[in-house]
Amino acid sequence: MVGHRHTDTRQRIDVVTDNAMHTIEKENRRLKDNSTKFDIVPTFYINMQCIFCHKDASTSTSVERIVPESLGNKHIYLPKGYVCDACNHYFAIKTEKELLNQPYFISLRSRNEILSKKNKLVKQDMIFPGAQKKAGVSFQTQEDSLLLHIDDKDVINSIIEGKSHRMIAEYLPEPEYPNPLMSRFLAKCAYDFFIQHGERKIRSMR
Ligand SMILES: [Zn+2]
Repeated sequence: MVGHRHTDTRQRIDVVTDNAMHTIEKENRRLKDNSTKFDIVPTFYINMQCIFCHKDASTSTSVERIVPESLGNKHIYLPKGYVCDACNHYFAIKTEKELLNQPYFISLRSRNEILSKKNKLVKQDMIFPGAQKKAGVSFQTQEDSLLLHIDDKDVINSIIEGKSHRMIAEYLPEPEYPNPLMSRFLAKCAYDFFIQHGERKIRSMR
């Protein structure tokens, strides 16, 4: 399948392959974990085709995070050229954002102190009976304490005035199954992972 989109010119493929190898070597040097390194150039990358829509991805401006940054992944991704910007944007909005902004996942990210894409702590709604209000709270573990950031002046004042003594977390059940949004999300992560690792394993089995 190599050269599917460029069968008229082998030269073009050689140039693209050289570029791809160069990028992958560069990416490998950046990656700390040896298990995530590439040792072959996957076919899609040689062709510079988007792994989802198969259109040209040679001018893509984003890397493809195999697990979203907002779940704490900073280092494992497919380099530019694997996924076109349109598909990258589509999955970011239609799958990741929609799923990870559900209250259950917001709470999960907040409790585990997983930083957002913009490196900020995630806030979850907590109930303050003394102030008769809900307010967004983020948590930050310190050496011997837990630091709370509360974004509501009324709640802060009620704590200072001694009216608020309790903070209650809402019970958020796990998402119900079957859950098409979760399935799409996991399938996308698995497909990305397969593109990075699977092709190598299949080749070594041949
Ligand atoms: Zn695409």
